[in-house]
Amino acid sequence: MKILKLDHIGIAVKDLDEALPFWRDVMGLEPAGTEIVEEQKVKVAFLPVGDTEIELLESTDDSGPIARFIEKNGEGVQHLAFRVDDIEEGIAYMKAQGMRMIDEKPRYGAGGAKIAFVHPKSSKGVLVEISERK
Ligand code: ZN
Repeated sequence: MKILKLDHIGIAVKDLDEALPFWRDVMGLEPAGTEIVEEQKVKVAFLPVGDTEIELLESTDDSGPIARFIEKNGEGVQHLAFRVDDIEEGIAYMKAQGMRMIDEKPRYGAGGAKIAFVHPKSSKGVLVEISERK
């Protein structure tokens, strides 16, 4: 598995409209659009910063993973996503290293990326996403 870059940092927020003024007006980042990812029950806003992005995640449903994360931990950094050259190979590699995967098969995330999460119990408490984007 080859990591190409830090693709984005996922941040859980209760409300995108409330979170945006900090990132846009204080930090000076320009939102590059929002998207709803039904499967993940999230509304996502991307804010490019250099070669990577801040991904703001608002839950669209109380049962979604982001709602549950906020309930447990409050708002804040939720995951780190690393761009890899080949997601299937990345999953196979992680499993071969003894990592527990949340996703044994790639699924689709925002922007049509193929993604898979490593279980944070395997990665020292950090929710790691690997992502392949063409
Ligand atoms: Zn992500």
